[in-house]
Amino acid sequence: MEAGLRRFLVSFMPLALYLCYIVYTGKNVPKPRTSGCSLLPHSHYWIASKRIVTPHEIISGAVEINGGRIISLVKEKDWHETVKNKPVIDYGNAVVMPGLIDVHAHLDDPGRTEWEGFPSGTKAAAAGGITTLIDMPLNSHPSTVSKETLQLKINAAKGRIFVNVGFWGGLVPENAFNASILENLLDAGALGLKSFMCPSGINDFPMTDSSHIKEGLSVLAKYKRPLLVHAEKQQEIELDDGVDDPRSYSTYLKTRPASMEETAIRELLTVAKDTRIGGPAEGAHVHIVHLADSRSSLELIKEAKINGDSLTVETCPHYLAFSSEDIQDGDTRFKCAPPIRDAPNKEKLWEALMDGDIDMVSSDHSPSAPELKLFAEGDFLRAWGGISSLQFVLPVTWSYGLKYGITLEKLVSCWSEKPAKLASQDLKGAIAIGKHADIAVWEPEEEFDLDGNHPVHLKHPGISAYMGSRLTGKVLATFVNGNLVFEDGKHAPAACGTTILA
Ligand SMILES: [Zn+2]
Repeated sequence: MEAGLRRFLVSFMPLALYLCYIVYTGKNVPKPRTSGCSLLPHSHYWIASKRIVTPHEIISGAVEINGGRIISLVKEKDWHETVKNKPVIDYGNAVVMPGLIDVHAHLDDPGRTEWEGFPSGTKAAAAGGITTLIDMPLNSHPSTVSKETLQLKINAAKGRIFVNVGFWGGLVPENAFNASILENLLDAGALGLKSFMCPSGINDFPMTDSSHIKEGLSVLAKYKRPLLVHAEKQQEIELDDGVDDPRSYSTYLKTRPASMEETAIRELLTVAKDTRIGGPAEGAHVHIVHLADSRSSLELIKEAKINGDSLTVETCPHYLAFSSEDIQDGDTRFKCAPPIRDAPNKEKLWEALMDGDIDMVSSDHSPSAPELKLFAEGDFLRAWGGISSLQFVLPVTWSYGLKYGITLEKLVSCWSEKPAKLASQDLKGAIAIGKHADIAVWEPEEEFDLDGNHPVHLKHPGISAYMGSRLTGKVLATFVNGNLVFEDGKHAPAACGTTILA
């Protein structure tokens, strides 16, 4: 596929001259809806492709977009009767699918914008085919644990986001037993709550136990919104100074064994059962974030689902791409919690994702200022934990998934449909009539190197564990609310993403 905006002529030749006329003479071309929001001068147009991923099948045809919504969908054979004198952007053989919805990102805004921030983070998202992300309540400052602190987030996002952004609130000991604080936070638009069962690393975001979680679930039940849980429980682990080198990844791995996840999940499930039909928190939902242990923890989750708990689980691209055996001494770009485990564990994660036992994938994009990664010392025990990945999650999931038989449908299920459901975004996550025109266009066969020549929009590309990789699946274009916000390395000049409030 040729680069550039003007690929109007490829697959529907009888219309080519006419469309050419529309585009290049400027006749019948509506004025842009909001200046600068889109790289296209139209709000009513068609996107054509040989591979459009719809909920039931992959079609060759076109999607009609008007006013930010998908208003019709036609197969190629019906094209001539249907298409009216509107501009067509023909992406040829590139895949057109719903934009990714990342339910787990830390953009650190306001308060720690030297780590990331809304403008750079959402530009990276747009460049990666992500059209909506839900921002976590911590790593920004202050943490989002009340109506007032949510308002700070909303204010900070205003006019500074290139994709749509929603917000999780925080469940912490301070608000867990105070239903009115939680209700105010949820009334103000938090899409759900997030809590930690171990220290979060952020002082104003302390950890919760199952008693706090039980209270949180009873409030969430009334709102029918989810609780997202970081499920690791601290253990006393002794290191031997003479043997356990802090520069060695295996030392870090030793400090966070799979049993930490298993213990936390076991405790969590004692209250997650409240979400069953007829249970005291029916209507609430529990979502386990970034599962890394594919053995006993996963078995517990499968069993709870069978027993009727309203429960879902995500994993992240870094657990699907990397294994502990390959992490070099001192390379703290790979530090995250829970940690990246061994290769057989990774195989089982893929199996679970492909079988549907793991419901979805999220980035857990969690950058920091580069100095906090302590690259000079390479000390895994003291470096900031968090993988920086936002722009790369689509090609990473695809590249590493090919070996396990990943399909376009699977990709849409775990990156768009199920995340949309978790965040209660009924109008997102599918290419279907009436849905928001949030669309990713990409070339699944195109390979590229993530090297110094690759335009990376994250604030600190150097801390990303993916730099230096060769990936398959290049994002060509991203549409958000019908605006072409990214194409060929270029962003729309204005930041016109919307804040999503419940
Ligand atoms: Zn996180």
